[in-house]
Amino acid sequence: MEGVQEPRYSGSHNVERRWFLPGVHCPQCDAVWGGPLGCLSLRGSLPPAGSGEIHGSARGGLCFLYSSWMLLMRREALERLQAEGVQGLKGCHTELRFRQKNPPELLELELLPRGQAHPDCLPEYRPEPCTKCGRKGWKRPEELILRASSVPPELDAFRLEDFPTAIIASERFVETARRLGYEQDIAFRVLPLR
Ligand SMILES: [Zn+2]
Repeated sequence: MEGVQEPRYSGSHNVERRWFLPGVHCPQCDAVWGGPLGCLSLRGSLPPAGSGEIHGSARGGLCFLYSSWMLLMRREALERLQAEGVQGLKGCHTELRFRQKNPPELLELELLPRGQAHPDCLPEYRPEPCTKCGRKGWKRPEELILRASSVPPELDAFRLEDFPTAIIASERFVETARRLGYEQDIAFRVLPLR
């Protein structure tokens, strides 16, 4: 969902999380974890989306809107995708305030960290993840390859455990979104499985 030049369906939104955790310092590897509640990723587990409510003003807004940590979807669009058989989508309540009358209802999509990158796309030498906080000291590769055995069959959208900013959607999700005309604001990229 990167690199969309002229979004047609997303409104412009200006949101921020209300609750922040203070930085948590790992005594083992010296990493500092912190930031918005929903961004905390320790040992590959994210707190459920919506544990920090989102406040802000939003204008316009049709289908999808995202940041790497937050994917918002109109309730209508979410329900249509679900009705078309897209699996494992869960919308969480947000507290967005809109300037317009009759604003759309936006839900934050819960995206669980489930799939993994295949070792073939990772650097050859990878230090062991920190034993205390689980931090992995390598960057997300340009060309991701998914480890086929790690793909959860029951979820049509999820994040990668290794790189939680990577949002993965199944073929069914992509096809359905295209069929319903929701794909304009999303640049889907095909990822190889191995
Ligand atoms: Zn650590």
